[in-house]
Amino acid sequence: DLGSDVEVSAEVADDVDEDDLLGGLKIETTEDIEVPDRLVDQVIGQEHARDVILKAAKQRRHVMMIGSPGTGKSMLAKAMSELLPKEELQDVLVYHNPDDGNEPKVRTVPAGKGEQIVEAHKEEARKRNQMRSFLMWIIIAVVVGYSLIIAQQVLLGILAAGIIFLAFRYGSRGSDAMIPNLLVNNADTSTAPFEDATGAHAGALLGDVRHDPFQSGGMETPSHDRVEAGAIHKANKGVLFVDEINTLDIRSQQHLMTAIQEREFSITGQSERSSGAMVQTEPVPTDFVMVAAGNLDAMENMHPALRSRIKGYGYEVYMDDTIEDTPAMRRKYARFVAQEVAKDGRLPSFNEAAIEEIILEARRRAGRKGHLTLELRNLGGLVRVAGDMARAEDAEFTTREHVLQAKGRSRSIEQQLADDFIQRRKDYELSVNEGYVVGRVNGLAVMGEDSGIVLPVMAEVTPSQGPGTVIATGQLKEMAQEAVDNVSAIIKKFSDENISEKDIHIQFVQAGQGGVDGDSASITVAAAVISALEDVGVDQSLAMTGSLSVRGDVLPVGGVTHKIEAAAKAGMDRVIIPRANEQDVMIEDEYEEMIEIIPVSHISEVLDVALEGEPEKDSLVDRLKSITGSAFEKQGSP
Ligand code: ADP
Repeated sequence: DLGSDVEVSAEVADDVDEDDLLGGLKIETTEDIEVPDRLVDQVIGQEHARDVILKAAKQRRHVMMIGSPGTGKSMLAKAMSELLPKEELQDVLVYHNPDDGNEPKVRTVPAGKGEQIVEAHKEEARKRNQMRSFLMWIIIAVVVGYSLIIAQQVLLGILAAGIIFLAFRYGSRGSDAMIPNLLVNNADTSTAPFEDATGAHAGALLGDVRHDPFQSGGMETPSHDRVEAGAIHKANKGVLFVDEINTLDIRSQQHLMTAIQEREFSITGQSERSSGAMVQTEPVPTDFVMVAAGNLDAMENMHPALRSRIKGYGYEVYMDDTIEDTPAMRRKYARFVAQEVAKDGRLPSFNEAAIEEIILEARRRAGRKGHLTLELRNLGGLVRVAGDMARAEDAEFTTREHVLQAKGRSRSIEQQLADDFIQRRKDYELSVNEGYVVGRVNGLAVMGEDSGIVLPVMAEVTPSQGPGTVIATGQLKEMAQEAVDNVSAIIKKFSDENISEKDIHIQFVQAGQGGVDGDSASITVAAAVISALEDVGVDQSLAMTGSLSVRGDVLPVGGVTHKIEAAAKAGMDRVIIPRANEQDVMIEDEYEEMIEIIPVSHISEVLDVALEGEPEKDSLVDRLKSITGSAFEKQGSP
């Protein structure tokens, strides 16, 4: 189940060591790896999407690709254009319509013919003009000669010459109108067209007719000359790619649908008040294959008729985010580095250790044991930054050191924000990483996609005037309420305190940055509330993440690797994670010695680790231990 069918063409060891990062490739640098010619053979992973593209190219079907950014959607769409037959390509010409100047005529000819036709027209116009000039000068000579010799009038001669000159000039404008406008030119294209219309405005997508400031008086540009092709026309016989399909306005989506259905679409001026809006051409061919892309949201916001159009006449595929980490696949990743180096054209080749470091990073970024990330645009970014650093040093090769440096440099905005945030919090001493504090727990959250932060939670319990409520500040109220709802069942089961008579105040310290995932904070909220209720201190050199079931089981959460790294950076000694997440931990070596990872599966274990003081804690933990799933069932779960 390899990505592309093409095996990596470089020497491979006879018996491949399973653990070899390069999958047994016997190479010194990326120069030793051959890059396949066809784009479709360069695609790593995405086997399903690739098969669909191959099939759809043969059958000329539309394709809808759903998946994360940078996983190869536009690359596959482009690859598809390379697979479409080149023989069918056409040129499109727009002609002046002598019967109605506002309805230019459209003609289609085989690719390459368009230029010839325009040339022929120009040549004809040139000849005609020469003829005219010749005629003009003869007439002028005769008339001027007549004025001077017979009528003996110099002024009359000059006047007559002027009038004749202007008459010819004015008359010759008519012959410009005879030259057609070469709207779509495929003379020099080596493959079927690939048009990326992502984020295109109406004119760029559907074509336009330029405004003419001189609308009359013989100075105007003939309307057929002002016609401009849209992406749907340029993509004729090729591929039209639209990413983030849902962001296209509804009117454009409707027009797009018409173009797909009719396989032709007239061009008119897109801005209502321009003179171009009066012009409408005959239909221009739009016989393209559409590749629409987006994330899952895109499907929901997409015009339903357009979606069913694609679904009914094509394929829908989901892109993979990760792929199984095998020696053969790692060889492909080595080739990926070679591909990116070749694509850029200026980067020094990567040596063996540098390639290995990129593959390690692909592992780390997968966030899943035994897998490699397929978010290859970002990984390609790392390749480029590392290569640029090597180039700046005039190094012969890009080395592992360059890759390591680049990782520090190519941090996402979220990571930079998180660092800034951590720094500022340190300045204000908001992070506490030693001692014991009642009601305060160091939780962990993920900002953006790839940055962890320590997010302390404080809980305070006060007697309530009325029925007990959960009071939380800021945007996190809903999240806190939910977390407390989840934990209240457990608290009720073991606590001597009747929490229905108490108000619980919860504060997420400095969580102004958003992006906090409530579910993964529920053991944090539970621990803080229990600590506050029982007045037992919580270890501040400990951070935790985990979701809580109503039965007290600690359930898996996302982003554990980033969270652990954040805890280590904030100076924590230990971190609690759900046992089910143990296999997702892929922290970098530098953090491994800094922090102890404690996997747990029940809230009793969390408290056992987190709470201070033996006697109180032990009785609490004992009570909690009795709240296992079966105990709950016996007592009737809420
Ligand atoms: P998307 O359209 O899914 O956002 P792209 O196709 O634009 O992603 O990918 C950007 C770049 O990342 C590609 O040009 C290529 O260099 C690299 N890339 C992405 N996915 C793959 C893949 N599956 N195989 C090889 N390279 C890839």
